[in-house]
Amino acid sequence: MPSAPVWLEHPSSLLHETGPHPEQPARIAAIERELAASDWLGFERVTSPAIDRAVLHAVHPEAYVASIERACADGGGYLDADTVVSPHSFEAALHAAGGAVRMVDLLLDGEAPYAFSAHRPPGHHALPARAMGFCLFNNIALAARYALDARGLERVMIVDWDVHHGNGTNDIFHATDRVLFLSIHQSPLYPGTGPASDVGSGDGRGFSVNIPVAPGADDRLFCSLVDHIAVPLAQSFAPQLMLVSAGYDAHREDPLGSCEVTEDGYAGMTRSLRSVCETLGIRVGCVLEGGYALGALARSVAVTLAALKEPVSARPAGDGDDAPPLVGQARERLAPWWPALA
Ligand SMILES: [Zn+2]
Repeated sequence: MPSAPVWLEHPSSLLHETGPHPEQPARIAAIERELAASDWLGFERVTSPAIDRAVLHAVHPEAYVASIERACADGGGYLDADTVVSPHSFEAALHAAGGAVRMVDLLLDGEAPYAFSAHRPPGHHALPARAMGFCLFNNIALAARYALDARGLERVMIVDWDVHHGNGTNDIFHATDRVLFLSIHQSPLYPGTGPASDVGSGDGRGFSVNIPVAPGADDRLFCSLVDHIAVPLAQSFAPQLMLVSAGYDAHREDPLGSCEVTEDGYAGMTRSLRSVCETLGIRVGCVLEGGYALGALARSVAVTLAALKEPVSARPAGDGDDAPPLVGQARERLAPWWPALA
């Protein structure tokens, strides 16, 4: 069985026209230019299929999907203040979601040790029946839902390091204990959700982990939160698959966020997550979300691929004694559900 790392893509990502908008086709073009220069770092390029409609409807109601299809067929326009579609956007969204779902199959079937699904539009703001924040369908939520429903997994972990809160993903899995959703996001910032007090509901209490950070949050803070919160949570939860909402708008050059993350931070977070997945014997797949400084986005995706490839040596998560105060506060808050973090 082939087992090369996989890069999932589709040409329709370049046809989702948004006009003068930060979420633009040039994002994909910039990433492609960067990766082409290093022969995709050995990743095998796979063309993403359109998502199966039954899989899509497991998260997004048929009437909502039909409304997006109609809006695009009618020539497009703004669905809300931020979210715009054009005639090819529906096709692009079907392949963006299809890529994330295909990635799950490749990972679980042992055909790829790790993978990156890189499409437009992004997904983590999309609610079941509402497009928002440049997102139409929630690609990573569809992938997780598919892993649970169609592939029979019982536990999936999603780490969202996009600078914005992944409100759609948070909502979709709010009441379940089968998806552990962890988001590190700047606050205050769009969409204004994801306070630390939001820990999930019902059976899902303790399974939504929201970590707002102040503007200026840097590599050290993001990496500490991954090392001292995400890694021990993964060790306790023992997911069967790790998915990453990989947005790059916490980069210091990004025009939408006010954080100070650099390529080193993205490499560090990737290495830590890959390392814990290695320890757990599970696979990890990234789904592209935001990132609007074209050069920074392209370089950051490249270092993520490189870090996924690096042989990892498991390093102890530690107790976070030397970590920033936010780490201790988050561990204390989570301890009722996750005693290992106490
Ligand atoms: Zn974002």
